[in-house]
Amino acid sequence: MKSPDSFPRVPLAQLPTPLQRLDSLSAHLGRELYIKRDDLTGVALGGNKVRKLEFLLAQARALGADTVITTGAAQSNHAMLTAACAGRLGLRSLLLLKRRGVSAPVGNLRLDAIFGAETRLLDTDSYADIGEEMRAAKEELEARGHRAFLIPLGGSTPVGALGYVRCAMELRDQAEKMNVHPDHLVLSTSSGGTFGGMLLGLRLYLPGVRAVGVAVDNGPAAQTALALAADTARLLELPPDAVPGSASCVEQAGEGYGIPSREGAEAIRLLARREGILLDPVYTGKAFAGLLRMIDEGRFGRDETIVFLHTGGAGALFAYDAFW
Ligand SMILES: *Cc1c(COP(=O)(O)O)cnc(C)c1O
Repeated sequence: MKSPDSFPRVPLAQLPTPLQRLDSLSAHLGRELYIKRDDLTGVALGGNKVRKLEFLLAQARALGADTVITTGAAQSNHAMLTAACAGRLGLRSLLLLKRRGVSAPVGNLRLDAIFGAETRLLDTDSYADIGEEMRAAKEELEARGHRAFLIPLGGSTPVGALGYVRCAMELRDQAEKMNVHPDHLVLSTSSGGTFGGMLLGLRLYLPGVRAVGVAVDNGPAAQTALALAADTARLLELPPDAVPGSASCVEQAGEGYGIPSREGAEAIRLLARREGILLDPVYTGKAFAGLLRMIDEGRFGRDETIVFLHTGGAGALFAYDAFW
């Protein structure tokens, strides 16, 4: 097996991110609840994409790129963090974003502009179309003497997912030091790199912990994460029996990706008021609502310790106008 640390990585994140006990909420719910603060990765407004970008931008640099091209929704945290991280390395970024959703110059779109990214809003609902636009943009740039590196949706490639294999290692070391014994890890999942990397990382470094992905869109969340876990295992030259065979998922998309839900807004208020921690309306608010629902449904034992992975997203709080 190769270690994730044997792959080129640019240190961009402030690591380890804190692992904190949610004292007030644990007392309120009569549970042992912890939060892994990947909203505090230390670039822009923080978030999970920074761990993936440490590996992806190392790859871009090794290939001699001067520009990175990526995609996402108009309010994409991934696109915003790509612009922020690329800028630190002296790379330009071109963001091809879906116009659908909140495309007023607010929230993450405002941040994209502050970070100096070139942003194009596209009138399509299909990431296949955008993939073609990305390849065309790359060719165009290269014809003008630039070298461009493509980062797919959410940075969810096997190389990007290495960031979350490493995060599982970090969590193991941290939990050990703090004498915390997690039974469950709950996280938001969409393009699958975070969940896929974690599934593999937990299997390698914290095999007693069961991960539950809370899907915030209507895609095949478990399959997507499992396929990424398998490809990442191959990248690490792991034997086939090291590949996770199943992934536990619940769906909490509400009316769909990027449409705030009442449950999500309630979870945002609960964590803000009890703990002073901000979740977001697209990912983590819904994921935390999923966690609360699973507690209600009795999916976790009374004495079990639950860790919520806070994947960031605060920029979108200032773009959506719902249920406040
Ligand atoms: C992108 C993102 C996720 C989902 O991560 P994936 O690796 O795309 O599944 C969760 N939370 C936030 C805040 C994100 O920006």
